[in-house]
Amino acid sequence: MTTLDNHLQLQDVASLTAALLDIESVSGNERQIADDVEAALTALGHLEVVRDGDAIMARTNLGHDERVVLAGHLDTVPLPTTEGSRGTVPSHWDGSSLFGRGATDMKGGVAVQLALAAGLAAPNRDVTYVFYDHEEVEASLSGLGRLAEHYPGWLQADFAILLEPTNGNVEGGCNGTARFDVTTTGKAAHSARAWMGANAIHAAAPVLTRLSDYEPAAVNVDGLDFRESLNAVRIQGGKAGNVIPDHNVVEVNYRFAPDKTEQQAHEHVRQLLDGFDVVVTDSSAGAKPGLNHPAAASFVEAVGAEAKPKYGWTDVARFSELGVPAVNFGPGDSLLAHSDDEHVSAEAIRDCLAALTRWLS
Ligand SMILES: [Zn+2]
Repeated sequence: MTTLDNHLQLQDVASLTAALLDIESVSGNERQIADDVEAALTALGHLEVVRDGDAIMARTNLGHDERVVLAGHLDTVPLPTTEGSRGTVPSHWDGSSLFGRGATDMKGGVAVQLALAAGLAAPNRDVTYVFYDHEEVEASLSGLGRLAEHYPGWLQADFAILLEPTNGNVEGGCNGTARFDVTTTGKAAHSARAWMGANAIHAAAPVLTRLSDYEPAAVNVDGLDFRESLNAVRIQGGKAGNVIPDHNVVEVNYRFAPDKTEQQAHEHVRQLLDGFDVVVTDSSAGAKPGLNHPAAASFVEAVGAEAKPKYGWTDVARFSELGVPAVNFGPGDSLLAHSDDEHVSAEAIRDCLAALTRWLS
């Protein structure tokens, strides 16, 4: 494959981003982009390269005391279906804005990784570049999870940066997330003789009251304020327009600050909904920001960015589980991620590359 190689030779990270956007790579269809990334990295000659499925890793082995991981996913969410959407494939330029699926999330970041891999043959710390598949789908399919299983040694590092879009800010840590089914039961009866039954939907009213009265906390962890949230996100009950419902489920989602373990978060919700049947259906730990780690501190100082908490769950939590402090730092506005109008400015991509080059040179 010559396209990515040519762009790496030209060293223009913005046009490299456009070349990556032109390779459609909706989750499950990463083969082509992975082939091209692998070929480009192998051609550089100064990196050790491995491939696992459609994930590629490449690293320097210079014997430095410190090693950092720069990671990004190769897949995107599906293409927009609305006629005239600009965040699609192929990409196009409008002035200095680059539109295309993945422009924000996160091929600008992937282009920065590739440009660093090509441009820094002798960085001041050892660097492991990680490109992985299946980030935008359920966690069990994640290429990063598979790499952690197959190549645990490769992901060990002092610090990791995920080049997800953060508008050039440093986003440390992330909230955890847990889902619960809160079930109430009753007794079915004809609604014309409701006194013969017991209404399971009405029985859920106190659940909703407790949730709407609940005041979510903001918790300071390692110097960053994490805002929590606790919400009913779905409700299901009732069989027909003339039947008193005997079964109701309120689905609840708790986004909890990384000062809590998953167990503590579950217990918190059980206590709030004491007296109800509460079952955990899904749960992921949060991640502490880790900005007090020396490698992280030197990074924040070198890039001169403001540190903020991350609200969505991201793969920084996976690195945190591996014992590697991690942050998000990448070009583009995360609010545009997955939108029909996804775009990124050439300047944002070039600034990100410049900041990381400063830190690693
Ligand atoms: Zn992403």
